[in-house]
Amino acid sequence: MSNVISVEDLENSKNKTITVKTEENIDGINALTPIRADLTFRSLGDFIEVSGNVKGIVKLECDLCLKEFEYKLDFDIDELYAKHALIEAPDESGQEFEIKDGQFVTDLNGSDEIDIYDLLYQSVILNLPNKKVCGINCNGEDKFSKEEEMSDPRMDVFKNIKIEDNK
Ligand SMILES: [Zn+2]
Repeated sequence: MSNVISVEDLENSKNKTITVKTEENIDGINALTPIRADLTFRSLGDFIEVSGNVKGIVKLECDLCLKEFEYKLDFDIDELYAKHALIEAPDESGQEFEIKDGQFVTDLNGSDEIDIYDLLYQSVILNLPNKKVCGINCNGEDKFSKEEEMSDPRMDVFKNIKIEDNK
């Protein structure tokens, strides 16, 4: 099975839908198992909808004790690709933008295919936890003195950042 969904093949397929089951070893993602994905590509006129599920086990480094731990990935994908440029600003080409809450559209930017590998890389990165902690019993916190943390002006910036959970 090819790693690329061509827009033309999608248009010519039954119900304009292609279902893909794949396993990928993705560069830049430290995975214990290949990333498994079950994806459905559906042509909706000007858009291509990608939906499905992604699973895998990745190795992350704990933010507190710096040990590696296993993190189980299991998340759904729900994305839209625009076949034609939706916005004229050259700076924005190839970027994702949001059309409504939580629904992102990726501009295919003249390309006539969707790279599954790329899609999986992006979605796995987005679904990694913002705070990586090996477990509730992690006792690595002792490594950081509380006073040091409070007095470090570089930490101030984090107090004002609220990171939204992806789901
Ligand atoms: Zn830890």
